[in-house]
Amino acid sequence: MHTRRLFLALLTATVLAGPALADGVVNIYSYRQPALIDPLFKAFTEKTGIEVKSVFAEKDLIERMEQEGNLSPVDLLMTADVGRLVEAKEKGLGQPVVSDVITKDIPASLRDPENQWFGLTMRARVVYASKERVKQDTISYEELADPKWKGKVCTRPGDHPYNLGLISAMIAKRGFDYTRTWLQGVKDNLATKPNGSDRSQAKSVWAGECDLAIGNTYYVGLMTNNEKEPEQKEWAKAIKVIFPSSPEMGTHVNISGMLLAKNAPNKDNAIKLMEFLSTPEAQQLYAGQNYEYPVGPGVAANETVLSWGKLTPDPLNIGEVAAHQKEAAKLVDEVQFNN
Ligand code: FE
Repeated sequence: MHTRRLFLALLTATVLAGPALADGVVNIYSYRQPALIDPLFKAFTEKTGIEVKSVFAEKDLIERMEQEGNLSPVDLLMTADVGRLVEAKEKGLGQPVVSDVITKDIPASLRDPENQWFGLTMRARVVYASKERVKQDTISYEELADPKWKGKVCTRPGDHPYNLGLISAMIAKRGFDYTRTWLQGVKDNLATKPNGSDRSQAKSVWAGECDLAIGNTYYVGLMTNNEKEPEQKEWAKAIKVIFPSSPEMGTHVNISGMLLAKNAPNKDNAIKLMEFLSTPEAQQLYAGQNYEYPVGPGVAANETVLSWGKLTPDPLNIGEVAAHQKEAAKLVDEVQFNN
């Protein structure tokens, strides 16, 4: 085990090594696509002279931190969802950061109450409704289980992290038993077996296969302005975004975020980067790359995003939402949502 740990640490050190500037470095493990985050690192280096070295992977970075242990070269973990931030914290891989600069521009519901992880951008899980066939402009998640929508709803599989996040939120807000009945109701309303991605649900609405789909906000932006695959513009034109809310539950959001590694060798530099990423300017740049929302109140989203209307996120701390993921997966199995 120790040999393996040393090997991994050396391997990573080799990847992250290179000519360091006089002002030092900060090492990142990132689950976020480089295209979305590199422009921010560049801006940070220009401002501070601190070099940012990042390793990107779609999975297993947390496992790598665990295996590297106290030999890990990583300073900052960046993720595209809250689940992994909570997981890293639970595994003891993070440490608290107390900084007024960070907390000033990140709402309390989008950061760890113990200051280990912080949200930087958010996206909402909304309803894509047919412009042609759906007259109403408001809806609730609860209503997706109403028999009036029988055969009209489509979604990707229930065990995808995005849907597990939504089901977790429903459990956190309305309880496990209510959520079981609700999920069964949604399943009974499905037009087809859950399949595909969020974008392909928009395509199904466009094709007339269903009237309501569940999807993340940023895909609407990506489809609307997709010059490479212009057919996606048509899918986006066929739908309107409705932000679900009811008296019991506001719109479910997820975040991309950051966590300071427990053994961060360049802790001061990492905190400088965290503070930089929290500023309204950086949030705006970061969110704009992917049609997400900056988390800071009063920090404007881009034009396409604003055109969908006003997002009011549910106020419950999203760490509490993420805590129900396992129960959510259990319900997906129990009601056989995907069959
Ligand atoms: Fe996505």
